[in-house]
Amino acid sequence: MRLTRYFLPVLKETPAEAQIVSHRLMLRAGMIKQASAGIYSWLPMGFKVLRKLENIIHQEQIRAGHIPIQMPIIQSADLWRESGRYDAYGAEMLRIKDRHDRDVLFTPTAEELVTDIFRSHVGSYKDLPLTLYQIQWKFRDEVRPRFGVMRGREFYMKDGYNFDLTKEDALHAYNRHLVSYLRTYERMGLQAIPMRADSGPIGGDDTHEFLVLAETGESEVFYDSQVTDLTFGDRDIDYDDRAQCQAVLDEFTSLYARTDETHDEALFNAIPADRRRVARGIEVGQIFYFGTKYSESMGATVADAQGNNVPVHMGSHGIGVSRLIGAIIEASHDENGIIWPEGVTPFHCGIVNLKQGDAEADAACDAIYKSLTALGLEPLYDDRNERAGGKFATMDLIGLPWRITVGPRGLKNGVVELTSRRTGESQELPPEQAVAKIHEIYQNL
Ligand code: ATP
Ligand code: MG
Repeated sequence: MRLTRYFLPVLKETPAEAQIVSHRLMLRAGMIKQASAGIYSWLPMGFKVLRKLENIIHQEQIRAGHIPIQMPIIQSADLWRESGRYDAYGAEMLRIKDRHDRDVLFTPTAEELVTDIFRSHVGSYKDLPLTLYQIQWKFRDEVRPRFGVMRGREFYMKDGYNFDLTKEDALHAYNRHLVSYLRTYERMGLQAIPMRADSGPIGGDDTHEFLVLAETGESEVFYDSQVTDLTFGDRDIDYDDRAQCQAVLDEFTSLYARTDETHDEALFNAIPADRRRVARGIEVGQIFYFGTKYSESMGATVADAQGNNVPVHMGSHGIGVSRLIGAIIEASHDENGIIWPEGVTPFHCGIVNLKQGDAEADAACDAIYKSLTALGLEPLYDDRNERAGGKFATMDLIGLPWRITVGPRGLKNGVVELTSRRTGESQELPPEQAVAKIHEIYQNL
């Protein structure tokens, strides 16, 4: 993409209404525009990152054997009356009347709708296990929408639902989700720590939240500092292998790590004092096992091997897709702007032409642009007629991990400059080598 043909409305001034750095940077980098309280339009750069996160989530869910569907955002109140949640959910649910005076609502989550799909089409244990998921907009009329996309009213969420014959099967589904979430967050360049949590209005006994440590996080968390040493890495997990999935869960959850609601002072104090940590975190996902809560109230049963009708065991699993963008920026920025992890960057590399209009510099930039594109990479070429300082400031603000700087002086010696946004380190290389280097970096992701 050439910057002169793109739509990147960066702001010079720091927006006064934004209290935390990710919100400020998302506004300044022209990623989002507030439409009304807690509701945002996604401008091209923001939308691109959202799509990248969505792709990673789809890949990892499908790898785990989960099946994508899409459910409506407007749902009839009737189903929610069946489960008892229409009245129980409270003011966060946006309730609407259609022209026939029927009660409908904007989905805050979708347990009821997916259970209705299940009970209409599945009748035998032979069709299990089944996990359906979607990535869809949700609405919750939050008391205090704030911090930009971090606590929106309209927000993008991956929500998955497992249906299993037995509790044991459903706990395997729970473990599968834990493993797939660990992989997902790591691919996004994030450390998200699974912590024992409270189940809230979804209900149920077993639940973990995934938290990204950040001072601006809304949750207070307590953990053993050794949990931050755990990384998922490049493991080859067989998602059908129960023992393997269970082993990952054990490894990542046996050390003390809990949110405020489930914190146990006595257990915490049993950790050696130098490892005890009290900090803040951003909740970027949560997994639940809730047994037969919805299947019993809504009649989602299957015939088991003996021909008895039994309610299925269920769980639900969410990832805050739009919130993740804020969390990634909170975890990865400096005083000049965003620093995108390679796995989610909106463009793979920036190209800065130091002397737009200079025949050689223009030709070199065009050639680099073409080579990168031919390799399947997306460069953002700053081809504006602007001074170098302004171009660097824009690149730093929008945070592409790599920048190739091209100018007449370097070209005389046959070199361009390749700079890492994270370390600030530069090296001079012939253009082909700079391109090859960038190709290699992304191939190894
Ligand atoms: P919170 O405690 O932050 O209100 P929640 O526990 O009610 O969230 P879940 O039902 O677990 O939310 O939803 C799954 C994920 O969706 C959360 O882990 C979070 O990342 C994201 N999410 C929830 N509410 C919001 C919101 N208002 N804005 C942006 N993302 C949200
Ligand atoms: Mg939650």
